Amino acid sequence: MAIVEVAIPVPLNKTFDYLCDVEVAVGTRVRVPFIRKKVIGIVLGNKDKSEVDNLKSVEEVLDDVPILDKPILDFLFWSAKYYHHPIGEVISAALPKNLRLGKEAKIKKVTGLSIDTEKPDYKITDEQSHAIDEILKAQNSYHGFLLHGVTGSGKTEVYLNITQTILDQGKQVLVLVPEIGLTPQMITRFESRLETRVVAIHSQLNETQKLDAYLMAKNGEAGVVLGTRSAIFAPIPNLGLIIIDEEHDGSFKQQSSFRYSARDLCFIRAKQANIPLVLGTATPSLEMLKNVLDKKITRLILAKRAGGAIMPKVSLIDMRQHFDGLLSTLLIEKMKQYLSKGKQVMLFINRRGYAPVYYCKECGWKAECGRCDSGMIYHRHINRLKCHHCGDEKMPEHTCPECKQPSLEVLGYGTERLEETLSSHFSDTPIIRIDRDTTRRKKAFGEHLKQINSGEPCIIVGTQMLAKGHDFSNLAMVGILDTDAGLLSLDFRATEHLAQLLIQVSGRAGRNKEQGEVVIQTRYPDHPIFNYVLSSRYTQFASQLLKQRSSALLPPFSHQALLCANAKNKQMAEDFLREAAGLLKSIQIDVVEIWGPVANIIEKKSDYYYFNLYLQSNDRKALHQMLSTFNEHIDTLKLKNKVRWYLDIDPIE
Ligand code: ADP
Ligand code: ZN
Ligand code: ZN
Repeated sequence: MAIVEVAIPVPLNKTFDYLCDVEVAVGTRVRVPFIRKKVIGIVLGNKDKSEVDNLKSVEEVLDDVPILDKPILDFLFWSAKYYHHPIGEVISAALPKNLRLGKEAKIKKVTGLSIDTEKPDYKITDEQSHAIDEILKAQNSYHGFLLHGVTGSGKTEVYLNITQTILDQGKQVLVLVPEIGLTPQMITRFESRLETRVVAIHSQLNETQKLDAYLMAKNGEAGVVLGTRSAIFAPIPNLGLIIIDEEHDGSFKQQSSFRYSARDLCFIRAKQANIPLVLGTATPSLEMLKNVLDKKITRLILAKRAGGAIMPKVSLIDMRQHFDGLLSTLLIEKMKQYLSKGKQVMLFINRRGYAPVYYCKECGWKAECGRCDSGMIYHRHINRLKCHHCGDEKMPEHTCPECKQPSLEVLGYGTERLEETLSSHFSDTPIIRIDRDTTRRKKAFGEHLKQINSGEPCIIVGTQMLAKGHDFSNLAMVGILDTDAGLLSLDFRATEHLAQLLIQVSGRAGRNKEQGEVVIQTRYPDHPIFNYVLSSRYTQFASQLLKQRSSALLPPFSHQALLCANAKNKQMAEDFLREAAGLLKSIQIDVVEIWGPVANIIEKKSDYYYFNLYLQSNDRKALHQMLSTFNEHIDTLKLKNKVRWYLDIDPIE
């Protein structure tokens, strides 16, 4: 009997051997017994001998043709090694659920080919044409490009052009987009331009659709595979180009279990396939700007908006002079002007719900979550207090639990309260609120977008779901209400992210020929960030930030990893990290700094206490060497099974 080596989705750094009476090709799914259960695993190899006695047998071979081919397996192995994550779990994360569950690898419904494609009614600009030429010159080998184009400069037009050329050679193209909102619009743009099959991979699809898309990518039928971060793991045998749109977006990093960055993995996938990689954005991350400085990637610039549109005029309103709540009179006046001219206006506020604080004005008591170190947010339409960390809900009290007075009130604003306030000022104007509460229903987001795209005057109220990529042609003015928290944050990335957000949100204004306007309300008008944002000088601001990071030896000038632990018993979480720190220090790699354990910014979440141990080095190899050795000796940690813990490589939070 032959022996097969199988990867199983369990949090253990090893594979498992099973007997099998037939040879099974690498990459095939098998059903095997595993601790009183049957599980689906992937065959990684065949062997004659095993170090383990009393092997159990494979119960069923599920595929005639391997589900994972060598290139994609190599890529998954690389990912598992880099993120120090068990290969079984990495493979499992890369497969659509139906394949993980052992369902048949068969396409149910083939997506139609786009046939009624339209050519654009404009000529590409010189800047676009230059970018296209440069990228296509490199089409037969690995090369990374940063397509740095201001908002509305026509980056998508560049994507479409180069995609067409690659398709014409019979190759496939992978396009990655951020998580929320953008995908349907992007799919339509690709479908209506390219005569090919465009398949989507994102969370709004049902499991059958996800499996079909995966299989059409795998069998080469899909010319374009367009998806959110997990699409980086789709098998694409004739991959000829990778495009990642809005490269700076945080949603490319997975923040649970297998914590990979699809943006960073793009580099590896493109190198392994020996193809070009295009990273597009108006606000490049500092990581990519450093890559440009280090000549690892080439920057292509689109400095002008396409089609004659001009950049919006940006101004500040000093909120220290406005004590009257959230909306300054000046902002309301400006909104009225634009609406009366038949234009649309958008207000951005990064908080959903009605009000962030529910408190007693007599004694200062404040509604807090019993399970988290966090206040509860009042949601008016359901009349509940909600915790945005653990999801707990309760009815708001009528009298103060401390002083028993009927003196409870809300404080501050979320989207829901803003919508209410606006309807008192603008009773005749439709208000469209877009946040996680109003878009929970599957088609809701699309319906809102449709209403906006009709062009009728309206006020759009939204959270950061609206910051990305959207192209609303009749939107003339954007008001940014409350982003001061980002100026005060202790996170060293906060100002980078705030600058990106301000520029992206501003970029929604004035997409056609008339100049748009952006108004930012702030209590800190003298903060240096505004100097740059007001004049759209993102690159200069980013260079300043890069200098600061360089002198502080922070990423991207050093590399970080986090060891996080959480437990119901606070002491236990801390003690585990002390034990881990002891093991790490015993490895004696001096170039890696270790500090902590430190309590998380929000120490308690859902009754668990969170602690972090920070590792940092400017020698990435040394850092990874240390983590590999740590993993090999992990079993020596006594508290290992008493707490929940994980490693986060290149953390962003
Ligand atoms: P970006 O992705 O850079 O923000 P888009 O690709 O969405 O920009 O383009 C912005 C708008 O400009 C779109 O409506 C697009 O159709 C239009 N556009 C793109 N290229 C051109 C061009 N060469 N001439 C005229 N309009 C263009
Ligand atoms: Zn009270
Ligand atoms: Zn909570």
